[in-house]
Amino acid sequence: MATSVQVTLPNGLTYEQPTGLFINNEFIPSSDGELIASINPSTEEVIAEVHAASVEDIDKAVISARKAFKEVWKNYSIDGISRLLHKLADLFERDREILTSIEAADSGKPQISNASCDIDECILQFRYYAGWADKRGGTVAEATSDKLGYIVHEPHGVCGQIIPWNYPLAMASWKIGPSIAAGNVIIIKLAENTPLSMLYVGKLVVEAGFPPGVINIVAGHGKIAGNAIATHPGIDKVAFTGSTLTGRTVMAAAAQTLKNVTLECGGKSPMIVFDDADIDQAVKWGHWGIMYNMGQNCSSTSRILIQDTIYDKFVDALVKYTKDTYSVGNVYDATKNHGPVISKVQFDKILGYIESGKEQGATLAFGGKAPYEKGYFIEPTIFSDVTDEMKIWKEEIFGPVVCLSKFSTEEEALTRANDTTYGLGSAIFSADIARCLRVSRELEAGTVWINSSNDTSHRIPFGGFKMSGIGSELGQYGLDNYTLKKAIHVNIGNKL
Ligand code: NAD
Repeated sequence: MATSVQVTLPNGLTYEQPTGLFINNEFIPSSDGELIASINPSTEEVIAEVHAASVEDIDKAVISARKAFKEVWKNYSIDGISRLLHKLADLFERDREILTSIEAADSGKPQISNASCDIDECILQFRYYAGWADKRGGTVAEATSDKLGYIVHEPHGVCGQIIPWNYPLAMASWKIGPSIAAGNVIIIKLAENTPLSMLYVGKLVVEAGFPPGVINIVAGHGKIAGNAIATHPGIDKVAFTGSTLTGRTVMAAAAQTLKNVTLECGGKSPMIVFDDADIDQAVKWGHWGIMYNMGQNCSSTSRILIQDTIYDKFVDALVKYTKDTYSVGNVYDATKNHGPVISKVQFDKILGYIESGKEQGATLAFGGKAPYEKGYFIEPTIFSDVTDEMKIWKEEIFGPVVCLSKFSTEEEALTRANDTTYGLGSAIFSADIARCLRVSRELEAGTVWINSSNDTSHRIPFGGFKMSGIGSELGQYGLDNYTLKKAIHVNIGNKL
């Protein structure tokens, strides 16, 4: 069975797309012949069919990964690991055009304004963690004449990583960088909707010189391949990014073998705009914080609470800014910044939420329509006068839909901002720094942006409180998730 196919993308680029399971540095067919069709959300046409991993295939990946860990990677030079990550970053730089072209077709991201930023993100991650590879040693806790007590940071071994479709390359890089730098070997399961770019990365992994079995990349169904990763006794840790519902399932499955678990899940993040805020800034960041990537961001600030005295002004300014800024259409046209949402399922779901907003009495201040016959395009949509009981206020929509609501006092804003089971992101806009710092401590979220929104950095940890997740990714804390801490007591005196 073929494990690659020649693809010509809508921008005319022709390339060889790997379609097999990338295990032990080779592309192999799935054991049961199961395929997944990857669909271009702009055209609704199939780009390519890729092999879907069966339970047996995950076993193969585990055998290959365990062998690589034991025989090669465990004692691999830490400088060598650093060089490999830098080399992977070099190859992402070299193949930017091809990677962004694939991503634009497969995930519907505008090539220049979105897909290219994802490549920048991957390069930063790989280089940042390349710098950490030789700094994971450990600490000394006790050094007296009687005793030396020290802690070494050791890799877990084989890590399973399950990623979503909204940032196929960037989410993978968040996991590859720290896990590899910490000395682990990995099996990444791609989302059903967006397998193409990361399968292409399999070729780069070989070219960079990673030993066979260190990085394994498989497409597959969540309930089969994803579940096999979460339950497998040969996998030591699982890191998952996706919905809260699936995160719970993964955690329950991982409990069978007491695997170490990291979860990055959903959100319904609030942004609070006080009446002393710089309104132009709040409007720009408010737009960016929800509309970037067509609203398909876990930490989108999708609920904006605005103080009553500036409410009307803010609503008008956000509508005007959105009208002037967004440009929907061909993802290969550099003047367009708003592509389709990922799939028919999401398209129908988001339009359903828009209908429910209208039915429940919110005011549709902008957008709300699907502008084209073909493709899963949805206009940026702004609802004002949203109240706390409405479905669009409570549930994660994961699309370009923002809810605006009025508040009077700081206490009210905080109570309503925190009234959610989620706790991923949050934002405050105010010129009063004392208030910003006070409110930031009260917000129940893993991240607080002061006078910005969704401004992530590879150096700063990112993770959820409440039902938005467990553990952090990015920065030094992201590395921490991928090491075990071993305490070593050395008796050097004569004490019993
Ligand atoms: P999803 O939960 O449906 O799928 C995520 C991944 O889990 C996919 O690879 C899927 O195949 C796999 N999966 C599905 N069922 C599984 C099972 N039973 N066992 C193991 N794996 C399984 O999520 P999605 O629709 O792909 O992504 C959207 C969601 O992801 C949103 O809720 C969003 O907020 C969240 N997300 C969170 C972050 C974060 O960092 N917190 C980042 C991006 C996306």
